[in-house]
Amino acid sequence: MDYQSTRDPSLRASSARAVLDGLAPDGGLYSMPSMREVSFDWKSVLGMDTQGMATEILTALLPSFTKDEMRTLVKNAYTGKFETEDLTPTVSVGDDTVLELFRGPTSAFKDVALSMLPQLMTAAREKCGVDDEILILTATSGDTGKAAMEGFCDVPGTKIIVFYPDGGVSAVQKAQMTTQSGRNTCVCAVRGNFDDAQTGVKNVFAAVTEGKLLDGMGVRLSSANSINIGRLAPQVVYYFRAYANLVNEGKIKSGDKIDFCVPTGNFGDILAGWFAKEMGLPVGKLVCASNANNVLTDFLKTGRYDKNRPFYKTVSPSMDILVSSNLERLLYLMSGDAALVKHLMGELKETGVYQIPDDLLQKLHADFWQGFCDDIGTKNAIGKVYREYGYLCDTHTAVAWDVAQQYKTANPDHNPVVILSTASPYKFPAAVLEGIGHSAQGDEFDVMERLCSETRIPVPKNLAGLREREVRHKDVIDRDKMLDYVLNKASQKEWF
Ligand SMILES: *Cc1c(COP(=O)(O)O)cnc(C)c1O
Repeated sequence: MDYQSTRDPSLRASSARAVLDGLAPDGGLYSMPSMREVSFDWKSVLGMDTQGMATEILTALLPSFTKDEMRTLVKNAYTGKFETEDLTPTVSVGDDTVLELFRGPTSAFKDVALSMLPQLMTAAREKCGVDDEILILTATSGDTGKAAMEGFCDVPGTKIIVFYPDGGVSAVQKAQMTTQSGRNTCVCAVRGNFDDAQTGVKNVFAAVTEGKLLDGMGVRLSSANSINIGRLAPQVVYYFRAYANLVNEGKIKSGDKIDFCVPTGNFGDILAGWFAKEMGLPVGKLVCASNANNVLTDFLKTGRYDKNRPFYKTVSPSMDILVSSNLERLLYLMSGDAALVKHLMGELKETGVYQIPDDLLQKLHADFWQGFCDDIGTKNAIGKVYREYGYLCDTHTAVAWDVAQQYKTANPDHNPVVILSTASPYKFPAAVLEGIGHSAQGDEFDVMERLCSETRIPVPKNLAGLREREVRHKDVIDRDKMLDYVLNKASQKEWF
């Protein structure tokens, strides 16, 4: 099975090449031609441990790799890196199940995919006969950069540069990044906001490609962004893990349907859930939970995508996003019509708006439900879940919990609901402490300690002691210096 661009079926690539390149040459996303091409026996993995499941699922989605190769990559990616051997445990919270995706090395759900991506990328490099060292460039608003660096840290044949907006990330996020270890990691603050850093990275990619600036240097650029299929595929696994856990605990019988509620930003996480459903997992509805930036809520209701609206900075910042890139893959796979997708993405670029045909909207409604929750609702949800069930959740998870309750009220015939929990509460300690009814004035590290003494829930190891750790990365540059910075770094063999 080859992958192809969502905008032009004649642009094809092996799954290994798709992982290596990230984006198709016409700006489309690499997608399988249709989910029917993925052959998979969903029942056969339910009895396996998580690494076994991952091996089977990733080989089905990325057939450039043999099962034996994949088994090794999975082992290298995950062994000993997460708090629990099953990687993503489930816990009961009231009538619902919470799927904890934040037990990885940086306490964010992006660890699940970004632990695996470097393994896939270096193996893909070998398969494609590429000798160049891979230099990953990432702009981050906080979480992705740290998770990507932890994933790529000291992986042979790779280096990574992370740009973050100077003064634009939380104190905890900044400390997580600037204390990053590894001989191949580099962190640099950019004077400007997140959009400046993100645009700067895109400009560096364009300048390097057009000017062939790195040719002959033995280095090529790549991205760890969630448009890469190598970042999406590993996320399918935990949907199967959750289902198997519910069967094992006797909460459902094998074959019963369950619903998932997913706090959504770029639409990667929830799309992985749709992949799981298409691969046979008995999923009823996928509930898309948004914060005040509710562009997806409106879209899934009406079929009209309109990004021309105010942008809100919320307490769930990883979902503050108005253009959800991975939606493009869903539209392609549901319609099977690359020309339509190309047209819609053109409209989005030109006008910021597109409207999908009615038959496609009907298909969306069969698989998805939608809702949103603003900051007041988020803090209320944190307090309610803590008081009623003794469970402390982060702001993103609280959005999903609130929307899951909306969903159940509106759909009395719902299936058992699994809520995806995407970050440790200690990554957003101020909003969480306020949510459980305390003032959160002062230094963010003090707030973290107060949250811990209040709840007695231990601070994850990677966050405890952050304040004392040595700062290794101190560079701060103007945004028009990013290209020079990258070229200079690319020319240095050793960074440390
Ligand atoms: C990235 C992120 C999300 C959103 O996931 P998408 O795949 O972009 O939809 C939700 N919660 C947290 C904590 C995140 O870091």
